[in-house]
Amino acid sequence: MLLAVALTILSGAGVLRAQEPNLVRNPSFDQLDGQGMPLGYELGGDAAYRKSLGNPKLDASDAGIVLDGAGIEGSVSQTVAIDPRQGRAYSFRFRGLPQDSFEVADNGLFMKVEFFGNGAAYDGKLKQLFPIIQQARRDLSVNGDMHVGGAAVWRDYVLNFYVPFPQVDRVKLTVACTGGGEAPTSSAPQPDRNLSGDDFDTERGPAGFGRGPQPKLLDTAGHSFFVTDFSLIALPEPASSRPKAAPAAALGTGQLLPLGGRWFYAALPGETRAPALFDHSNAERLLYRDGPGGQCEIPFFDNMSATLRAGDKDLAGNTVTADRLVADNVTVRFDAESMILHTHGLPNHPTGRFPEEGFGPGSNPNTIQEQDETYYIPLVPKVNPNHFALAGVSSNGALNMGPIGVAVNGVVFFNPFDAGQMDASNLMDRCCGHPNPFGQYHYHKYPICLNSPWSDEGNAHSPLIGWAFDGFPIYGPYESANVMAKDETGPAALNAFNIHYDSQRGWHYHVTPGKFPYLIGGYWGEVDRRNIRRPRGNGPPPGGPPPDGPPPF
Ligand SMILES: [Zn+2]
Ligand SMILES: [Zn+2]
Repeated sequence: MLLAVALTILSGAGVLRAQEPNLVRNPSFDQLDGQGMPLGYELGGDAAYRKSLGNPKLDASDAGIVLDGAGIEGSVSQTVAIDPRQGRAYSFRFRGLPQDSFEVADNGLFMKVEFFGNGAAYDGKLKQLFPIIQQARRDLSVNGDMHVGGAAVWRDYVLNFYVPFPQVDRVKLTVACTGGGEAPTSSAPQPDRNLSGDDFDTERGPAGFGRGPQPKLLDTAGHSFFVTDFSLIALPEPASSRPKAAPAAALGTGQLLPLGGRWFYAALPGETRAPALFDHSNAERLLYRDGPGGQCEIPFFDNMSATLRAGDKDLAGNTVTADRLVADNVTVRFDAESMILHTHGLPNHPTGRFPEEGFGPGSNPNTIQEQDETYYIPLVPKVNPNHFALAGVSSNGALNMGPIGVAVNGVVFFNPFDAGQMDASNLMDRCCGHPNPFGQYHYHKYPICLNSPWSDEGNAHSPLIGWAFDGFPIYGPYESANVMAKDETGPAALNAFNIHYDSQRGWHYHVTPGKFPYLIGGYWGEVDRRNIRRPRGNGPPPGGPPPDGPPPF
């Protein structure tokens, strides 16, 4: 459930504004028409509707559409009205999962947008998706359980486009598989085929893979591609052109107000002060500059609301019986020293089903629970001259147990170990996370499922995915086109902390799929100790990091 926020919600943060940025109707495919088909969608060929995608015993995912490879054609579409006066830059995305045996012929899987207005059709724009899947299989399979299956995960597929003519008032959004039978022989990435019109896209690009035995818990042997969570979002013009943070005038829509460190507020025309609180209603105007003269990230865009799912526990520990939107899952404010992030800790993507039952030893007995946590991310990180990294494969105190950083969706990062010094990277769900005994959902490795406004397809330096508690930013796995940071050698090589330096971003961490320490290998900088504590709001422990009690997770 991406941005389907149509409720006004009372919360501790006050009354949040009602809004509905997602222009797609029935984005989660859960409303049905008289025939039992998803309301508002057109299905073509052999596209099939399912009330739950994947294995309902394993995955807490939304309803959606199944497309098959293997020579079978199918499509799912929705036609959406737009108002071109509201701006002409849009982002069409959906969440997809390619099962391990999903194959199509060249160009057999794509997403496209077609333009209509005044009774006429105006062509469209199309993006090939199978190359992205191939690249993920080549680069990210090792991110999975036992270093297998990490490419068969939920992730966002994104097509950003510019409406070519002002008279366009409808767009048709389609994901389609044209089958074709033969598996592709070439793994070369295909460029986007731009059928017409402007293309402001500065997106990162294309994606391969290795097969192995099926992971122990995953139901990935099939040959389907799952589709859900359609969204069409008007991009704010500053964000749509991925601006350099300076000069502010280049944005054309008001001032860029500094918030401290690398943070800026893209003010509306006439606005002279930034809001005191950032939430889902203004996240698209909260910019993080990569570095001096660098590009701007909009890290919290589409990342501040989440769903508390039926079966999970609320803050009070009660089991929730129906999915509940938590619009203010993440909120952010600033003081002179810190970006202060409050989170309910709920993942805004599908997860495994917890507790895991019936899978024998290694099954996670915990339940995902809503949290109430505040983290302090230093605005100006300082290198700690006394830093040291994890040594080898056992914890030496370089990183505390419990949270060590926070992702842009408010889910926390943990070190590579669970209690008992087990390498935790093999105990995750299909979205790279799992809950600990406090119900706190967390990542021990690259969370491919994370939303990013700029999809990471491996053709440029990855976007920001979060921060360590020392304030240094954590980026996705790629250093440049088709080169993962973990494979860099020489001056650009990552050190034992998984950090390196470049002139644009300064010191920054990278995640290293399949390669210890996966996230960060130690704190390069000085940590705000307020962050080091047990979950559930307990204060910092008197004598350093808390122990992590058994059982694992
Ligand atoms: Zn880098
Ligand atoms: Zn864990």
